[in-house]
Formats: sequence, structure tokens, C-alpha cells
Amino acid sequence: MRINQLSSQQEKYLNELVTELQKDYSEYKVTQIETRRFDVNYYHRVLDSLLQNGKELSSVQKIGSSFKGKDIKLIKFGEGEIKILMWSQMHGDESTASLALLDLINVLIKKKEFSEELKSKVALYLIPLLNPDGAKEFERRNYQEIDINRDALRLQTPEGKILRQIRDEINPDFAFNLHDQYTNNSVGRTGRPAAIALLAPAFDYDRNINEVRERAIKVCVEIKDIIEKFYPGVVARYDDEFERRAFGDNFQKWGSSTILIESGGYFNDFEKQEIRKMNLIAFAGSIYSIANKLYQSKSVDDYFEIPENQRLFFDLLVKNVKVKKDTIKYIVDIGINYTEKYDSLRRKYIRHYTITDIGDLSTFYGFDTLDAKHLKFEFGKVYIKVLTNFRQLEKLNLNSLIKNGYTTIIYQGSFDKIEEGSLFDRMINTTKLPQREPKRLLGHSANFILKDENDEIRYAVINGKVIELK
Ligand SMILES: [Zn+2]
Repeated sequence: MRINQLSSQQEKYLNELVTELQKDYSEYKVTQIETRRFDVNYYHRVLDSLLQNGKELSSVQKIGSSFKGKDIKLIKFGEGEIKILMWSQMHGDESTASLALLDLINVLIKKKEFSEELKSKVALYLIPLLNPDGAKEFERRNYQEIDINRDALRLQTPEGKILRQIRDEINPDFAFNLHDQYTNNSVGRTGRPAAIALLAPAFDYDRNINEVRERAIKVCVEIKDIIEKFYPGVVARYDDEFERRAFGDNFQKWGSSTILIESGGYFNDFEKQEIRKMNLIAFAGSIYSIANKLYQSKSVDDYFEIPENQRLFFDLLVKNVKVKKDTIKYIVDIGINYTEKYDSLRRKYIRHYTITDIGDLSTFYGFDTLDAKHLKFEFGKVYIKVLTNFRQLEKLNLNSLIKNGYTTIIYQGSFDKIEEGSLFDRMINTTKLPQREPKRLLGHSANFILKDENDEIRYAVINGKVIELK
């Protein structure tokens, strides 16, 4: 068969592969873990049982221990000439790719024709969860409080040493450095969230392009094309400033074509399960592309056409609100973001929405937006009585409370009967709040009402959720 005939067949297969993974993802998703936070030991149990099913396909070995003695494992699949190394969760609170790697292993086990073809062409090495101590606490750094991704040269962390050692042993042709970024990044000024940001890291301050980096750039373009078949406009290009202490930049310098994949934010995807799926499609598709050298037809210029990653999203953006300071009225936009905090009564992490910016925010975007067209801002009221059991709570008429300007209920009882995400759930604060009228918008929780000229409440914003009143 002629070469271009073969490669067009392979292009066709690549397209079918990613289309099937996208369409039938539920067949390949490893559903034992579907949250960003998980128990590290449980992750390893899930991984081990997966690998048990795929014994003939892969081998697994312990390559060392974290500072606190947790296992770090290397999984090897295939005996081909092209060597690919992928590692995830070097930053302990960046778990999206760790879950997608489970899915990838599952795909290799279940899709026989895919893995048959791959194993003669590539040797795939996976290090899921490089920073298990950080992952245990869901914190970026390792137990020594060192950012492993700034330890590529000094090598004072056991995790960094292990990664360097494996690199030296394998000398991979391609390296995938898998991270998560802020969920509030956008794809340039397109108004689309950067669900994925890609980077072929620079290997010097001048950001030169040699053969090694060029291959990585072309794989980035392949990944963008694969993801955007299904999710148009969600891929951004990560800042390529050279960081001489980082692993990605050094891998590129040491001769492995290195691709950084950053999982960002997407609409209503708080646990990043949709982005996990994007990762899987990107992994499977780009490994196939590398195995068959399909990426070589991609253009370097297309990489630089990918809009840059910019932090332009709010979780909620309320535009054109009339506020008042002393007696003076003026118009502002209100930017609202959430942070996650552990709630000991609910026994889980919950999202707290806070006002993080006010003023002219017309250059920003929102996952959710409301044009308040000169409606008047007022802080929501806190229901005076502290409730301690569900029966008291049940008796409250939420609609009439909201109509009277209340946005918060103090409740310290059981959550067994309260549905997650319900209006009750949103209105409840489990800590006691000061009763004084707040003075500052910035830093205040996103609990407020918006009134029209007749002093009628048109909207209530309750912990970041917009509720329209009829
Ligand atoms: Zn990271």
C-alpha cells in the first residue's frame, strides 16, 4: 500500500476512535471514582484491579516512595520503538488527568484492535499520581511543602528524583506533563472557557523551536483538533515563558518532545468529569497519532493561532447593577467566584460564592451572567433565628422569605433530609453570621437581592445562584 493511502486510512481510524470514545464514554469510564477529591489508597486499589484485568497487556512496578512512604508506580504497556512517558498529579490538587489515565488503561484493555496495533509501535509508560502525599491532602505541594515542578534541577524531593531517574532510564521520545489550571481561564477573548490549555514548553529563554519542540508543537495541534471536533473553541495555548526549574521545560531541553496538558473549567463541570473525558479522548487520539506519525502533517503556525489562555471568567457576572455608597448612586458590574471549604456539619466540601471584583468588568465573561439593567443592589438579610433541627427548618416558607429579602438561614441541624443543591441547601449557612449590615461588597458572600424602581425584588442571588422572582 502506498504511504499516503495508509496514512489516510489511519486518519480515518483516528477519527472513528475518538468519535467512539466520545459517544460511548460510559463504556470506558472507570466509575469507581467520579470526584476530584479521592482517597489515594482507594485510587491504587482501583488501579490494581484494572491492571489485574489487563495482565497480559501491561506490567506494573513500584519505582519508589513519596516522602511519607506512599508507593509511586510505573505502568508499562507495549514494546514498540516510540517511547511515551505520561505522569499526572505532580501537583496534589490537580487530579483530572489521574482519573483519565484510569480510563485510558480501561480503553487499552477493552479495545483490543486499538491496543494490538499500538503495542507493536509504542512503549507507553504511565506514572499516575506522582505526588501521593499532596494528593492525600488535596494540596499542590508535596509533604516537604516544595512545589515538585520547581525541583527539576535541585532534586530535593523524592518525587522529583524519581521522575528524573525514570526519564534517564527510559529516555522517552514524548513526554506528557498532566496538570489542572484555574477554572476561570478563557480561550483568549472568545468568551469560551479554557477547558484545556496546551503547551509545548520552551527549552530556553528565547523560546527557540528545535526539532524536539516542533514535534511537541505538532502533537499539541493534533490534540486541539481532536478535542475541538466535539467541544468547539475550548482549547487555549498556555503561556510559554521559560521556567528553568520546571520539569516540562527541562524534559524538552533533555530531548523528549514534551506536551503540557492543563485541565481548566467548563460549564457546570465542578467535578471536571466532562474535562476528564476530553483528556481521555486527547490521550488515546494523540498516542495513536504518535504511533503512526500522523501529527507530522500538522502545522507549527496553527499552534501559534491557538488563542492564549487568559484569566477572564467569573463564576457569576452580574452586570449594570445600581449600588450606593453613602448617598451616592452609581453603576457597577459585580464579579463572583467560588472557593471550596470543608463544612463539618455537612461533612463535605461545599462551594462558597464571594464577590471578588466590582467596577467596569465589561472585558470579562461569566459561566453564568445576569444583566441587572440598573436594578438596585441590597445585601440579603439573615433569618434571625438559629435553627437546630430539620422540623423547624421544614416549616419555613422559603418563597416568602426570599420575597421579604432573606437570602440566608442559619441552621445547625442534620443534613440527612436536605437535598444537595436545593434552595434550602443554598440558603443555609452553618456558622453564625454577624447581624450588622455589611459595609463592603468585596469579599462579601454572594447573597443579595436586586430591586426595581418600585422596590419590588426582581432577583435574589443566593450563594451565587440567580433566582428570578415573578
Ligand atoms: Zn500543576
